[in-house]
Amino acid sequence: MKKIVYSCEKCQKETTVPQDEKIPVCCGLPMTPKLEVCTRPFNAESARLDAADEPCDDGTGGGN
Ligand SMILES: [Zn+2]
Repeated sequence: MKKIVYSCEKCQKETTVPQDEKIPVCCGLPMTPKLEVCTRPFNAESARLDAADEPCDDGTGGGN
């Protein structure tokens, strides 16, 4: 079964739960999925570092 890693934006704690589990809550906030959502850095300088082989694909690359 696919699992999703969630992280807490407040305390940076990470937890892994099965995909069909509800979003875990930490510090009173729903945790942020790390694999499901591909968060791209907004500034081009840091984007250049890891834009190439991210394992996630959010479909905004325009395809081929
Ligand atoms: Zn937390």
